[in-house]
Amino acid sequence: MADEEKNGRPAGSAGETPGSQPGLQQSKGDSRAVARDEDLQPTWTDKDGNVHRKRILTGDRTTGKLHLGHYVGSLKNRVKLQTQYDTFVLMADVQALTTHWENPKILKESVREVALDYLAVGIDPYTGGVDDGTRTKIVIQSAVPAIAELTCLYGLFTPMSIILDNPTTKAEAQQYGFGASEENADVVLNEDDRQLYQELASKLHTEFPELGSELSPSDLVVIVGSLGSSGDVSLVHDLEGHGYADNAVAAVLHSARALRVVREQLISMKRSAGIRQMNYGFLGYPVSQAADITFVNAHLVPVGVDQVPHIELTRDIVQRFNRQYGKRRRILVEPQALVGKGGTLKGIDGNAKMSKSLGNAIYLSDSPDEMWQKIKPAPTDPQRVRRDDPGRPEVCNIFSYHQVFCGGNEAGISEDELGVATVEEVAVNCRGAKWGCVECKQQLHRKITALTEPMREKRSYWEQHPDDMIDILKLGTQRGIEEGEQTLQRVKDAMSVRYWD
Ligand code: SF4
Repeated sequence: MADEEKNGRPAGSAGETPGSQPGLQQSKGDSRAVARDEDLQPTWTDKDGNVHRKRILTGDRTTGKLHLGHYVGSLKNRVKLQTQYDTFVLMADVQALTTHWENPKILKESVREVALDYLAVGIDPYTGGVDDGTRTKIVIQSAVPAIAELTCLYGLFTPMSIILDNPTTKAEAQQYGFGASEENADVVLNEDDRQLYQELASKLHTEFPELGSELSPSDLVVIVGSLGSSGDVSLVHDLEGHGYADNAVAAVLHSARALRVVREQLISMKRSAGIRQMNYGFLGYPVSQAADITFVNAHLVPVGVDQVPHIELTRDIVQRFNRQYGKRRRILVEPQALVGKGGTLKGIDGNAKMSKSLGNAIYLSDSPDEMWQKIKPAPTDPQRVRRDDPGRPEVCNIFSYHQVFCGGNEAGISEDELGVATVEEVAVNCRGAKWGCVECKQQLHRKITALTEPMREKRSYWEQHPDDMIDILKLGTQRGIEEGEQTLQRVKDAMSVRYWD
């Protein structure tokens, strides 16, 4: 999503153009979670024979303006997809608050910046009248009450286990700084017990190296103390046989069965350590995402491959709902992930991630001079010290940018017209030391400037017409409200929580 920390909670990074089979990847979980070729047909037919465009839900966390990484990873594809599918773009301001709740003031400006970026890159917005699915609806999440209500209702039947076991949730917990648990205070032990617990830690580490060597004594004390009342009759019986009542830790040390149980509990504790520090909204994100996707009954959600588990989770919630309340009717559409190789762009400093906080982002709204100030000092092949040293494009981040921003493909202007080298020529010039890195960077700068020049012009137009942009947001959001209300009523009907019309 549009976030300096992350480009891609679902509804963020788009995949390849539909039909680009080589880019599609198969999920290991729900085998239908990732759309296949046959799922990418841009239309569907209702029971009365009416043909409709399939829906796409995409969007961004509104935590700041968008950069080239967003363009390469999702925006470029979104502009293509909107010509085939009925597209809703969700400006996920509530989701942004799950990590920026202490600084809500950034949201207002971020919504404006992201909206400007959308219009600048070529999102074709719905501007009122009959919605035939050919124009993109830009929707502000917090203004759609149905999303919040659906989140609440879905949460009623979503087991915690499927959220806690979601690998993306754990990865994102670390990414957003929800670290290890600190709640286990140091435990005061007498000398004998301290030695026994050290012995236990050492034994666990030897027998189960996957636990790591730094086992917390506090965790061990808690676990050992709880085994006697675990309800596992054979375990309790085994422990009693080893004198658990007299010395619990000594009994555990002599019970192979107890050691295995301790191992399982330690792994479980580790798994939930970061999660305990999360705020409720962040942890519940997979549920609110199901609401984000289903409020418009989206068929496809363009995502990066790392986000497929989230789509699986949404499908899980939808399937549970349809099974439980649908009486064999498909009330909610099971969305699929539109996954492609997509493009990823490193930071201009070579860091794997382009990010505002890392200071390595080139924004779509940057002026040509600002872009040059970022490109000029960027690292290149470290072995190319002098101009006549042959370079190694394969290790140079500038070359990877040349590969992405290769004239004709990106800006609609050929390298010839632009007077710059093709990717192949860049490689030859580099290997053969036919030019210096500064010249190479100047040509890259020209390519990026040519790509972004039309964006700056469009941006400037919308900056000068703020009321028109607000109207676009209002109209798109109104469509979102209408769609969400219809979905919510169907859901409430099915759940029998509607008492009058
Ligand atoms: S010539 Fe270009 S590709 Fe080669 S090392 Fe220098 S900047 Fe990198």
